Amino acid sequence: MKNNKKTAVVRRSKQREVLFKVLKETKSHPTADWIYQEVRKTLPNISLGTVYRNLRLLAERGEIIELHYGDAQRRFDGTPENHYHFNCRNCGKVYDVEEPLKKDMEKDLSKKLGFIVNHHRVEFYGICKDCQYGRPIKEGKNEERYMSGLRRQGNA
Ligand SMILES: [Zn+2]
Ligand SMILES: [Zn+2]
Repeated sequence: MKNNKKTAVVRRSKQREVLFKVLKETKSHPTADWIYQEVRKTLPNISLGTVYRNLRLLAERGEIIELHYGDAQRRFDGTPENHYHFNCRNCGKVYDVEEPLKKDMEKDLSKKLGFIVNHHRVEFYGICKDCQYGRPIKEGKNEERYMSGLRRQGNA
């Protein structure tokens, strides 16, 4: 009995270790489903429930960050230090933004409100470069029309 228990504990931490490694090695801020598919390459018998449970545990411990973009859009980030994100409205990709943290804002707000502000999160929204120059989106189409209009004028 004792041995069985020990094996279970070892297996659990092994699962968490693989999961953590998968998250650390990607910059894509993946969903639990994506992480599940990746972890299964190493641990084929792992269940989605176990993946969820371990992700929640890691997030509670502050080793990873859980990002919420509405109910259907829960993503995970292997970089626990505060940093800013850009969220593409077209493809849904989440990018890290290399911007210095506005720590002064926390101090200013603490003073202004009399609250203790010890953390803040910033999310930028818009259209990423890939989508601007790759996939057809509204703005892109307009620009294309504008460009071909110019070309036609040039030919005439
Ligand atoms: Zn995009
Ligand atoms: Zn991030």
